[in-house]
Amino acid sequence: MIEVNQLSKSFNDLQVLQQIEFKMKAKEIVVLLGPSGSGKSTLLRCLNGLEEPDSGTIRMDDVTWNANMTKSAKREAIRRIRLMSGMVFQSFHLFSHMTVLENITMAPMLVKNLSAKQAAELAERLLVKVGLLEKKHEYPSRLSGGQQQRVAIARSLAMQPKVMLFDEPTSALDPELTSEVLQVMKELALDGMTMIVVTHEMKFASEVANRVIFMSDGAIQEEGSPSQFFVQPQTERARRFLRQLG
Ligand code: ATP
Ligand code: MG
Repeated sequence: MIEVNQLSKSFNDLQVLQQIEFKMKAKEIVVLLGPSGSGKSTLLRCLNGLEEPDSGTIRMDDVTWNANMTKSAKREAIRRIRLMSGMVFQSFHLFSHMTVLENITMAPMLVKNLSAKQAAELAERLLVKVGLLEKKHEYPSRLSGGQQQRVAIARSLAMQPKVMLFDEPTSALDPELTSEVLQVMKELALDGMTMIVVTHEMKFASEVANRVIFMSDGAIQEEGSPSQFFVQPQTERARRFLRQLG
């Protein structure tokens, strides 16, 4: 489903990603861990076409992006990769002047040419999934942070992505609102969505992830099942990271 080879990225003199390599099967749930500044967000942003790597290859399903392709071939690959990957951020980025329903229906109507009726039906199905159908005519400012994040997840899902990328989706939320968002993500995982999740929620990581990838200094240091990683981390860097979590 996803294959990343030799992916590198620098910002000016700072090498943020160094020869990243990993593979993911469809329906796999990978939790990406690592200290602040280790390159987790940059990696997700590269996988979503928000950031352009300097070198390397990203394959997602039948689409390949390679740093050596022509400009126009790269642009086309990024367009297709973006359609395949939904991204949810720490801050919810909902459109404040649109209702919940409008937030969800806009992109499918614009990008996928759904009719207003088709888009509304899809949005309502997704709102049921995230437990917010009764809020469909509300504006984001009248929702809690957890509810806003669940709408953001529904909005992403409305584009019918093949993989969902989550970048610290609960970090801006109070603990009691965190669990409702994690619950939605758990259900999504059970539905068979392919997911990469950057999170500080170790309980979620150990319960839901099939695999943990640990990064530091822009490189993958180790990977393994949650039970391997949390119980017997292989590297001193990972041990130190886990100790700091307490
Ligand atoms: P955190 O856990 O704090 O979110 P992270 O692992 O997500 O950290 P990144 O946001 O990927 O880390 O950042 C990796 C490094 O790249 C950091 O040193 C950061 O300052 C730098 N960086 C990220 N984006 C940019 C940018 N647009 N321009 C310059 N430097 C950047
Ligand atoms: Mg980050």
